[in-house]
Amino acid sequence: MLSLAMWRTRLGKESALRGGTLAVAHAPLASPRRLDGARRSRCPATPTRDAAEAVGDTSGGPERLTFTAPDDWHLHLRDGDVLADVVPHSASQFSRAIVMPNLTPPVTTAKLACEYRARIMAHVPEGSSFEPLMTLYLTDNTPAEEVHRAKEAGFRAFKLYPAGATTNSDSGVTDVRKCFGALKAMEETGTLLLVHGEVVDPKIDIFDRERVFIETVLPTILDNFPNLKVVLEHITTKHAARFVLDGPKNVAASVTPQHMLLNRNALLVGGIKPHFYCLPILKREEHRLAIVEAATSGHPRFFLGTDSAPHADQNKLSACGCAGIYSAPLALPIYAQVFEENGALDRFEGFASVNGAAFYGVPRNERVVELVREDWRVPANYKFGDDVVVPLGAGLKLTWRLRT
Ligand SMILES: [Zn+2]
Repeated sequence: MLSLAMWRTRLGKESALRGGTLAVAHAPLASPRRLDGARRSRCPATPTRDAAEAVGDTSGGPERLTFTAPDDWHLHLRDGDVLADVVPHSASQFSRAIVMPNLTPPVTTAKLACEYRARIMAHVPEGSSFEPLMTLYLTDNTPAEEVHRAKEAGFRAFKLYPAGATTNSDSGVTDVRKCFGALKAMEETGTLLLVHGEVVDPKIDIFDRERVFIETVLPTILDNFPNLKVVLEHITTKHAARFVLDGPKNVAASVTPQHMLLNRNALLVGGIKPHFYCLPILKREEHRLAIVEAATSGHPRFFLGTDSAPHADQNKLSACGCAGIYSAPLALPIYAQVFEENGALDRFEGFASVNGAAFYGVPRNERVVELVREDWRVPANYKFGDDVVVPLGAGLKLTWRLRT
């Protein structure tokens, strides 16, 4: 069977050979599970058997991995009816998840976070101990008192979105200096600052947004609040990886499966692939390699955060398609495979189950889980309200399965 690395190479060749089609990304078009009413892509491709046979040169590796139950330190669950579709996926894979607050309107207060939590809990399957860890949305006007209210309610983090940076971030921060009162209170209460680390100045190229944030905005935060715990979310560049490796102990990073798996060729070569569009956007190969090296290094301040971000497929396949990749139901097997292919399976538990809890200052999960070596195929799509959501690696064969 092919390794993940070979799969990526094949994606590029398929695209070139077939005039702008990508079998893997188009797998949902052939799916009998696709619901009525979902819009079809204009790309005519259907997946070839060959292209969907993808992943995992794992001969000689272990047959099972037993390890501390993992957590997802960056998750979008959305709201409303679709909670019924996505909450069980995360609950089946993870014990806890940091739930992002970018709803419309955003979750800006402890009261709103309590209400959102209750709506999520209503969809946690019976018998599951899944725990959503709520975050609040930082704005220019977040008062210090709200930080204290969040602390009293048991919420551990605020999320900083630069205004306009990604999905539902219009209420985000226009100038970090406007948040200094809230940041001071966060530093004093041990509340974490989770950062979407991109500048949104239209003069800055989209591929440089993270680097420029690290060079300009991040030092402003850390110089003024040297004891504030900061998580650089979903890092995508060698600059971010290096900053955490060399940086102070109060700065950590979450890493997504897509930024370990894919570079920007997957998104753009041979035709645009909306299911690989996310923010921060996929970068050059040299950056992907730096992210993989950092995440698999065993360094304690890199940990798992899927940034799983479902969108109805009609909103992905659009003239102005939404950013976000859905990975919750299959992230763990994909991460495990990347670690295995990089000879780092012995460091997987630290990344998935230990480092995040340590940085957040919460106990490790007591439960253990087991990944078994077993081939399975990622579904072409999953139900998502009255549409579908197409997952990362739709149609691909994976070699690890979480035993439930
Ligand atoms: Zn996110």
